[in-house]
Amino acid sequence: MIRILIAEDEERIYRFIEKGLRAAGYAPTVVADGVKAVDYASSGEFDLLLLDVGLPRLDGFTVLSTLRRAQIGIPVIFLTARGSAADTVAALEGGADDYMVKPFRFEELVARIRARLRPAENGDPSPGNVLHYGVLELNLLTRTVSVGDKTVELSAREFALVEMFLLHPGQVLSRQQLLSHVWGYDFDGTSNVVDVYVRQLRLKLGADHIVTTRGAGYSLG
Ligand code: CA
Repeated sequence: MIRILIAEDEERIYRFIEKGLRAAGYAPTVVADGVKAVDYASSGEFDLLLLDVGLPRLDGFTVLSTLRRAQIGIPVIFLTARGSAADTVAALEGGADDYMVKPFRFEELVARIRARLRPAENGDPSPGNVLHYGVLELNLLTRTVSVGDKTVELSAREFALVEMFLLHPGQVLSRQQLLSHVWGYDFDGTSNVVDVYVRQLRLKLGADHIVTTRGAGYSLG
């Protein structure tokens, strides 16, 4: 499970982010001031930090510079209400990986989070790059899937489908959800492309890993 630390003092905003992240399959934790943000982010227990600029006790810029001085390399996405060019520059120069200007669409936040969890070229593999479910393991960095010790060759679509399941463990995903996330178009009512791909995945991964819930969709088994 990917653990995300939310440092945000405005309840309406952190509730919204927390709820959305949980629904997207992440494990969120909220802290509402800058001192706690430094403590928690230094613990090594989190894969990413969403950091509000205007925090009580220590502002977001100070939190980030404190972390970076202590060689804590956790990916940081700033949440800024101001959206001023100066803040943005300061955030990125201070070692932030990205920033979001409030208010933002939740889908966009998730896209940024996922991008940050896939570090570029020379990034060290971190726990956030590997998703597990039982014997299934998916590595976002190397784009490989394995079942126990066995690495399985998957096409890009098959990989995206497995990723979607692993990001929503224990959740039944409808054909509509799978189509719009993996293929990016609306279900036309006749397409059985999802069923075809699930059948292929069962052949490749083993039949037990994906369970059919009749009339509802599919989930991990
Ligand atoms: Ca704030």
